[in-house]
Amino acid sequence: MRISKRPTLPTASTIIHRVIAQRQVSVVYQPVVDLRTKRIFAYEALVRCQVPELASPLALFDAAVAGECAGELGRLIREIAVENVGSHALFLNIHPAELNERWIVQPDDPVFAHDRDVFLEITEGVPLSHFALCQSMLRELRGRGVHLAVDDLGAGYSNLKYIADLHPRVVKLDRKLVTDLVGNSRMFSLVSGIVVLCKDLGALVVAEGIETTEELEAVRDAGAQYGQGYLLARPEFPPPPIIWPVLGKRGPHSIRSPRSMPPKQSASNLSGRLSGPTSARSEAGRASSRPPPSRRGSVPARRSSRAPSTRKK
Ligand code: C2E
Ligand code: MG
Ligand code: MG
Repeated sequence: MRISKRPTLPTASTIIHRVIAQRQVSVVYQPVVDLRTKRIFAYEALVRCQVPELASPLALFDAAVAGECAGELGRLIREIAVENVGSHALFLNIHPAELNERWIVQPDDPVFAHDRDVFLEITEGVPLSHFALCQSMLRELRGRGVHLAVDDLGAGYSNLKYIADLHPRVVKLDRKLVTDLVGNSRMFSLVSGIVVLCKDLGALVVAEGIETTEELEAVRDAGAQYGQGYLLARPEFPPPPIIWPVLGKRGPHSIRSPRSMPPKQSASNLSGRLSGPTSARSEAGRASSRPPPSRRGSVPARRSSRAPSTRKK
């Protein structure tokens, strides 16, 4: 008896090799905004895949890990991200599997060719034991002028030891902390305390996922120097400008009692706020509609004397 062979469906780990070979990925950029000057400090590159099954960055990297090509994928993303960001400082997400494969420290990696500051974001969700193995590689990167950033602090894996061990130049507060901040005085105390701790350790603080004016005011009050979120700009290609929203009439740094806070105003309720860079926009409250050219060495100096140099070698 002949057994007919059924065609097998390609698995995600098979598809991923085609995705890389055919460069079926692109990058969108989201501004990281200086909350004091209201200007763009840098852009974060976020990968997008044209293949529907791998549209989510997390699914894409899961497939790459399964296909043992996370290093290759990361390298391709960095190439595209550096090529299209222009003269701006750049935040790049790094999957822990990329550190295993030592791709990132190859001398011809695009991060070393970028003429502005580069920050490599490492998520706090990765076991610290893994980082112990990667310490020498991370030190090497720092020594070559690349900054480290801890991503998603407060996302549920909270381990403040990362901040002490990794010597990050930047700590990014997860959106979860930002949403819980509004109207919650205990959370406000917690986040303000985390910000002080980060600053004492020489790290700049970025609040992620700011969607409302109340969240923007709260993170500023809590001391975060930088912010990112749909309220200011969605991730887009080409790197989008920001529109600074009209805030309440109080002083910029007064700490408001959470009980007196008004109901949330969502980003989508702000007229014209989420339009793309080419759409008509209200001039009201507009602070910076075009990203200023960033300057080399624009990263503020650390307070700590133990801080590594922020200049590239
Ligand atoms: P992440 O690095 O923490 O990136 C922030 C995520 O939040 C992005 O989702 C972004 O689009 C989204 N976001 C930005 N502002 C807001 C906001 O105001 N509200 C809400 N609700 N979300 C906001 P995305 O692009 O789907 O990426 C998800 C995660 O996938 C990233 O989290 C990062 O961990 C990973 N990822 C994305 N791109 C890359 C990449 O190029 N390489 C690696 N290794 N990981 C990546
Ligand atoms: Mg990130
Ligand atoms: Mg994050």
